[in-house]
Amino acid sequence: MGDPTTYHFDLDATLRPKHAMLEERWWPGIRDAALEASSARIYDPIRGVRAVVIHATAGGSSAGAASVIFDRKASFHWLVPDEDEPQHGSFVWATCHEARAAWHVRNTCCHPAIWDGRGRINHWSLGIEVVNRQVRSDAFSDWQVEATAQIVRYAWAKYPNLRHVVSHAMLDPARRSDPGRLFPWERLRTAVLDGREERVSELVARAAEVEAVRPSAPLCMVV
Ligand SMILES: [Zn+2]
Repeated sequence: MGDPTTYHFDLDATLRPKHAMLEERWWPGIRDAALEASSARIYDPIRGVRAVVIHATAGGSSAGAASVIFDRKASFHWLVPDEDEPQHGSFVWATCHEARAAWHVRNTCCHPAIWDGRGRINHWSLGIEVVNRQVRSDAFSDWQVEATAQIVRYAWAKYPNLRHVVSHAMLDPARRSDPGRLFPWERLRTAVLDGREERVSELVARAAEVEAVRPSAPLCMVV
């Protein structure tokens, strides 16, 4: 088990993927609420994004997590469903506009390892919530970890200055411990930096090219 207040790693710009797919759907009806539960970014919405913050909900349902946005209390950009929900294994929920600063970290929080200790992290970060009860009996599923990694890879490909992946606990150790001791941080790090999925699609694309240039045999002789 790890110490969530130490969970972080940096993204090496030389390994940045050119593109990364993300299977996501908007949570039904949340877009307008998310506009009211977020702020205009004070930095450029593409070049100004420097970090991804990993959270866990401490509740057992995506609906419970999404309700804080409908209540305009807090917000985050994506929600990773729990294993007993029908979306698990298929897609993640988009819950706030990426161009907006979602409300997922207190403004006063900062850490020297994360963009030289700057505050107002929401303005230069994206937030991911993973649905998990935060109790010993509720393990994170492999798919939840992979889906979280895929969101990070998607963001890494999209935001050229994205450098830090960090836990909420590291940014706010006095008040938060998420994503918790049971979150497999090393596995997340490996999945983000490894990027097998894109390599597989590249191989498939290359195979398709070979197929395309191969002279096609006549299916039938027309005389
Ligand atoms: Zn959190």
